[in-house]
Amino acid sequence: MTTSRQAPQQRWMTTQPVPDFIPHGVTPPCREEDPELFFSPGERYSNEVRAICHRCPLESKCAQWAITSGEQWGLWGGLDPAQRNALRRQMELAS
Ligand code: SF4
Repeated sequence: MTTSRQAPQQRWMTTQPVPDFIPHGVTPPCREEDPELFFSPGERYSNEVRAICHRCPLESKCAQWAITSGEQWGLWGGLDPAQRNALRRQMELAS
């Protein structure tokens, strides 16, 4: 489980490993934006920010990664933590 409060692009720019859903040489749209857009202390994200993820070719892989890795912070694949937790519970109930 990941416990860092860094947004995807903040994490990417640090020495931490790049999440493996991001292929080498690919620059996701969030990389071009203010990292704080993807990390809100109140975990509230505007439709405009979510739309950045919806335009991203990695959206589904990003969301899947965040759900399965237990990421608790930030917007990943257009999903906030509450949405990911709900999907995680549904997946657990279905298994
Ligand atoms: S889906 Fe969003 S957070 Fe994930 S890589 Fe794409 S733009 Fe970044």
